[in-house]
Amino acid sequence: MDPNPKEEWSIKDFEIGKPLGKGKFGRVYVAREVKSKFVVALKVIFKEQLEKYRIHHQLRREMEIQISLKHPNILRLYGWFHDSERVYLILEYAHNGELYKELSKRGHFSEKQAATYILSLTEALAYCHENHVIHRDIKPENLLLDHEGRLKIADFGWSVQSTSKRQTMCGTLDYLAPEMVENKAHDYAVDNWTLGILCYEFLYGVPPFEAKSQADTFKRIIKVDLSFPPSPLVSSDAKNLISRLLVKDSSKRLSLQKIMGHPWIIKNANPMGVCE
Ligand code: AMP
Repeated sequence: MDPNPKEEWSIKDFEIGKPLGKGKFGRVYVAREVKSKFVVALKVIFKEQLEKYRIHHQLRREMEIQISLKHPNILRLYGWFHDSERVYLILEYAHNGELYKELSKRGHFSEKQAATYILSLTEALAYCHENHVIHRDIKPENLLLDHEGRLKIADFGWSVQSTSKRQTMCGTLDYLAPEMVENKAHDYAVDNWTLGILCYEFLYGVPPFEAKSQADTFKRIIKVDLSFPPSPLVSSDAKNLISRLLVKDSSKRLSLQKIMGHPWIIKNANPMGVCE
C-alpha cells in the first residue's frame, strides 16, 4: 500500500514522530500520513545545506531515479515537497534500520543470512540495470531492513542513469572496483564487484581490501590482493562466488543472472528475502 498519491503534499499532511537518524544533509523522522494513517520516513533537508554543498542537482537526480524505481528490495520514494527552508522526502519506512548496525552487532552473518541479502541485492540491481541505473555506492550504510528483515537499497545520491561507459570518480573506497580506483571508464559491472565485496564483508565482518591507509587499500584493490582467513563457517562455495566477482577484468565478472543461479545462493538464500 502507498500513502494516497497526491499532487501537492505539505507538512500538514503528516504527524511527525521520533527521529530515526541524522545524515550528512538532514534528519529523518518516522511520520504518519494523517488521512490514510500510512507510516513513512520523512527526510528533512535544509535548502541552505543544498546550496552550501551545491548538491541540489544531485538531490533532484537522486529523487527522479528513486521515484521511478519500484522493487521490493529498493526503498520507495513516494513523493516530495518543500517549503521556504526545507525539502521533504516521503520515504518507505525501514523499521529495522541499518544493515550495518546489524552486522556490527553480530560481527558477521551466517551463510543463510548473507546469501539471502546477496540474492535480494542481486535482484534489486538486475532491476536497476534493466532500467539503465548504476547505483555505484552500494555499501552497508546504504542498506536498510524493513519490519520483516527484508533488505532495502536506499540512497541513490551517487547513482547514474546510463547507457554508455561513464568516467567520473565517485563511491566509497573499500567498495570501489579497480576501474573506478584507476579512474577508468566503468559500467554496470562496478555493482557486480561490490556484490563480491559485500558478500565477503557479510561473512567475515570486514571488507576484503581493508588497510591502514587509503593508499594501501587502493593498492590492494588494483592488485586484487584477495585472501580468505581460515574460517570453519565459510564454505568453499561462498569463496568461489566471491572469487568470481572480485575479478579485475570487469567483462569476466559473474553476471547477475549467474549469481542468482550460483550453487551457494541456491543452497543458502531464502528466495522470499527474509531471514529467520
Ligand atoms: P540518511 O540521511 O539517509 O543517511 O539517514 C540518516 C539515518 O536515518 C540513517 O542512517 C538511518 O538510520 C535512518 N533512516 C534513513 N532513512 C530511513 C528510512 N527510510 N527508514 C528508517 N530509517 C531511516
